[in-house]
Amino acid sequence: MKLQYLGTAAAEGFPAVFCNCAACQKARLDLSTELRTRSQMLIDGKLLVDFPSESYIHAMRFQVDLSAVEALLVTHSHTDHFYAQEFVNRGYKFAEKLVSPTLDIFGNDEVLSVYHEGTYREMRESVSASIKLHVVRPFCRFSLGGYDILTLPANHSRREEALLYSISHEGKTVLYLNDTGPLSEECYMFLAQNHVVADLVSFDCTFADSTEQHSARHMSFIDNVQVQNKLLQYKIVRHNTKYYVTHFSHNSAPFRERMEQVAQKYGFHSAHDGLEIEL
Ligand SMILES: [Zn+2]
Ligand SMILES: [Zn+2]
Ligand SMILES: [Zn+2]
Repeated sequence: MKLQYLGTAAAEGFPAVFCNCAACQKARLDLSTELRTRSQMLIDGKLLVDFPSESYIHAMRFQVDLSAVEALLVTHSHTDHFYAQEFVNRGYKFAEKLVSPTLDIFGNDEVLSVYHEGTYREMRESVSASIKLHVVRPFCRFSLGGYDILTLPANHSRREEALLYSISHEGKTVLYLNDTGPLSEECYMFLAQNHVVADLVSFDCTFADSTEQHSARHMSFIDNVQVQNKLLQYKIVRHNTKYYVTHFSHNSAPFRERMEQVAQKYGFHSAHDGLEIEL
């Protein structure tokens, strides 16, 4: 399984779009190293997790052919995870020779509603006909072109059923845990019942090592360790499981080298935009 982090920032980006705090100003001096765009992961070039507005930039920056993506798993409808408007460009006179003629989009009710709101003005029938929408709920299991997908409820929003995904392929498994606070007991039970053993866990680490009081809708390193302990307890991870942290807020001053050093203290790795991992 080949994973690529295309973006690793929280909703506001790093540097943040409208921000002039000290961290954002410093990051602007070395964007080639420090720029973190909104979170997205590409798996084997054909499976995407989330679709922020920077998907276009990701395709150019990392030379990714987004027309080859066969399926998109959306965690939730927040703007940094689902920029539906872009899909009007997937066909008609705007796109030729698509590698994958169809695209399957999986998300909760709210994601589908954002899709319709975002596309109804400009969507051509020929384009919409090639995009299939699927509603998914927590605690589902389905297969997708050789990938085994499990959904979990995120601890993130009262307005919608935000989702976390376990993605397995040819004996390798990734647990993708954006956006969420610490997980409910039912999540661990469900993963254990389905015999999930993760090779890589990708943690929401919005608050990183910030010591300020934070909401339970996202995590810090301390929260990540708590989840790691639960995963160990339920045998959902093994001794050689890799842990990556991502989805950083500008408030955490997520400079690449600094995050890598802090992550190391916890036995984790810090993701950055463009990072490729072979499992
Ligand atoms: Zn987010
Ligand atoms: Zn800032
Ligand atoms: Zn969110």
